[in-house]
Amino acid sequence: MKFTDLRLDPRILEGIDAMGYENATPVQQQVMVPILEGKDIIAAAQTGTGKTAAFVLPILQKLKPSAPNNEGRVKALILAPTRELVQQIEESVLKYSKHLDLRVASAFGGVDIRHQIEATKHGVDILVATPGRLLDLHTQEKISFTGLKYLVLDEADRMLALGFYAVIKEIISYLPTWRQSLLF
Ligand code: AMP
Repeated sequence: MKFTDLRLDPRILEGIDAMGYENATPVQQQVMVPILEGKDIIAAAQTGTGKTAAFVLPILQKLKPSAPNNEGRVKALILAPTRELVQQIEESVLKYSKHLDLRVASAFGGVDIRHQIEATKHGVDILVATPGRLLDLHTQEKISFTGLKYLVLDEADRMLALGFYAVIKEIISYLPTWRQSLLF
């Protein structure tokens, strides 16, 4: 399957082109259409199979804004178990969304929270975060989930193994119920 078959926004295709991707990988072929159709999904795929693009590209297509989000709300939330993974996902999001006018931010523990508060203050379209730091930001009322439309739990198995169950459950209790949920 070619990315052009998915009728993605030309600006997203430009980003994909710049990465040198020609065909969608198997996990991308399986999940991108259901995500674009608005379905909740559960998918299992190894790291290195193109899993990140499999959820990021459809989310970009759905957000595809013409103007940056100034509402002070998060539209898409991607939770991942570690700082390294959060940074890696954020990097991918930035590359794929290079030609879109989107606000992307990340939040993870072990560093000063003030930068993250500053980065999310004026609204974020896509926030990539570890569960603990995200809950901190929410408890301090620095972010709002009222406009949230998409939730991704990446490496959910590892998040559970690291003991994040209660934190994730609490975060989910603050999210709108009409969101789309993607679990990897
Ligand atoms: P991931 O599984 O998301 O960690 O991705 C592993 C690697 O595959 C990354 O370096 C991506 O840039 C690359 N990748 C993702 N999708 C494709 C694709 N359709 N064609 C070629 N490489 C890809």
